[in-house]
Amino acid sequence: MTGPAVTALPALGIDIGGTKVAGGLVAPDGEMLATARRATPGASVSDTEDAIAAVVAELAEGHEGAIVGVGVGAAGWFDRTGDTVLFSPHLAWRNSTLRKDLAARLQRPLWVGNDADAAAWAEYRYGAARGADLALMITLGTGIGGGIVLDGRLRRGSHGVAGEWGHMRVVPDGRLCACGNRGCWEQYASGTALGQTAREVARTSPAAAALLLERVDCEPDRLTGEHVARAAYDGDPLALELVTEVGCWLGQGIADLAAVLDPEVVVIGGGVSVLGEMVLRPARERLERALPGRGFRPGPRVVAAALGAQAGIVGAADLVRRAVAEGEA
Ligand SMILES: [Zn+2]
Repeated sequence: MTGPAVTALPALGIDIGGTKVAGGLVAPDGEMLATARRATPGASVSDTEDAIAAVVAELAEGHEGAIVGVGVGAAGWFDRTGDTVLFSPHLAWRNSTLRKDLAARLQRPLWVGNDADAAAWAEYRYGAARGADLALMITLGTGIGGGIVLDGRLRRGSHGVAGEWGHMRVVPDGRLCACGNRGCWEQYASGTALGQTAREVARTSPAAAALLLERVDCEPDRLTGEHVARAAYDGDPLALELVTEVGCWLGQGIADLAAVLDPEVVVIGGGVSVLGEMVLRPARERLERALPGRGFRPGPRVVAAALGAQAGIVGAADLVRRAVAEGEA
C-alpha cells in the first residue's frame, strides 16, 4: 500500500501498560472508531504479545474495510529502528525483539515505539500541542515518560532513547529508581512518588495523615498515589499538600528542560494529569521562579494533555499510517 489512499484509511493503535493492553481503530482525523483491551496480569513478554495479538484480531474482525497497519506504543526504551526494546524499567523487556515477533504474528505493516513518543505525536497532530514548532510531552504515571516533536517530526535521538527525562537526577543520593540510579526525577514527580511520600508521612506522622489512613484501614504500606489523588479531590489538606509538592517538582524539572531545549509548549499527560490544575498550578508557579534567565526570556506554556488516556493509541495509529505512506513500514 502506498500513495494518498493510505492517508484516508483507519489504522490500529495499541498502548501497552504494566497491567493491560489497550487498542483502538483510529480514523485519519484522530477519531476513535472502536476499542478493545486485554489484561496482562503476569506481564511476561509472551503474555503481552498474546494480548496484543488478541486485541488486534478483535479490532480487525470488527471492521469491514482495509486497515493501514498496527502502531504499538510501549513503556520501554527502543533502539532507533524500533526493532529492539532495549530496556523497560517497569515491564519485562530486556533487549527483546518485540517488532520482529509482532511482524511474524500479525503479518501487517507495523510501527513499534515508545508510548510517550506516541502520546506526544497525538498531542501534536490532534491535541494540545497542535502546530507547535517544539513541543515536549511529559507523561506522569508509574514513572515519567517523555516525547519530543520538533519541526513536525517525532525526534527520538541518535540511539532512539531521547526524552527519558524521568531519569534526570534531581536529588543526589535520593530515592532508588528502577533504572539503577538514585534520585531520578520520576521518584519525586509521578504517581509512584505521590504514593511513596504519602507512606513516609503516614508512618512518621500518623496523626497528620489520619484522613489518608482511614482509606487503607490504618495500614500505611497500602497507600498508593491513587488514594492520595482521590483524597486530594475530596479536599484532604495533607493530600493536597502532597499533590502540590509533586507539582513543584514537575515545575522545577520543566525549568531544567527549558534551559536545554527552549520548548514552545510542554504537554502534561498520564494518569496523574487527571488532577489538572491541582498539579499544573504549582508547576507553573515553580517554573516561573526557576526558569533560567526569568524576566528576560519567554518560557514554555504548560498545558494539560487534550487526548487523555487515548493519546498513546491515537498517536501510535497515526505513526504507522505515516510510516506506511512514507514507505517505512
Ligand atoms: Zn531512574
